[in-house]
Amino acid sequence: MKSFEHFERSRNWTSEESILLEQVSRLTNEAIAPRAAGYDERKEFPWKNIEDFRRVGLGGIFIPEEYGGTPITYRCYLEVIRIISAACAATGIIFGTNSATAKPIIEFGDGEQKKRFLPRFAKGGLGALAITEPHAGSDAANIRTKFRPDGDQIVINVEKIFITTGDVADVVLLFGNGPKSRTRRRRSPPCW
Ligand SMILES: Cc1cc2nc3c(=O)[nH]c(=O)nc-3n(C[C@H](O)[C@H](O)[C@H](O)COP(=O)(O)OP(=O)(O)OC[C@H]3O[C@@H](n4cnc5c(N)ncnc54)[C@H](O)[C@@H]3O)c2cc1C
Repeated sequence: MKSFEHFERSRNWTSEESILLEQVSRLTNEAIAPRAAGYDERKEFPWKNIEDFRRVGLGGIFIPEEYGGTPITYRCYLEVIRIISAACAATGIIFGTNSATAKPIIEFGDGEQKKRFLPRFAKGGLGALAITEPHAGSDAANIRTKFRPDGDQIVINVEKIFITTGDVADVVLLFGNGPKSRTRRRRSPPCW
């Protein structure tokens, strides 16, 4: 037996976790993996995979119960991501981006924001986390997006790139600087 397989088998999942992981494996083997090459070749968004996730309620696994979710442990969640990504890498990153978008809302959102946004993820809505800009990738603190209050509106000056699900998401979490943000002075580039 290969060492990775051995490591996998030695994990002790609860019976509920085992049932969930088995269900996800069945779905990925029967539906997600067979579609992967076709989606890549046609450069299409994998909508059928998203519909399958909605059908089995997978969108709720990182959402607290009071917002309609059915949360699981973080290590079980990582295993779900691993299984999906092994079947279709693009679908894996789309699914992973959902929880990365929901997590800051869970941790830092106020009551109204949580009530407004989190049930959408639980129902299978898609999230996008918009951080990267043409001049700020790894150096994310250098983003230039600005939020300027204007009466009861906020004017946004933004140029984002590489945003997973950015063109189809139901919720976009946009990173930028408010009028009081202290923007960091640009570091000199690393010298190699
Ligand atoms: C599949 C995919 C999905 C993505 N989805 C999202 C998304 O949903 N939301 C989002 O905001 N962004 C997303 N991104 C963008 C991603 O976060 C950026 O590509 C990443 O932060 C790197 O930035 P960059 O491409 O500008 O490269 P750079 O930051 O310019 O880095 C280029 C190279 O230089 C190296 N480097 C950079 N700085 C240093 C340093 N100080 N010392 C040594 N080496 C250094 C890096 O390791 C890298 O090899 C996605 C990217 C990919 C590939």
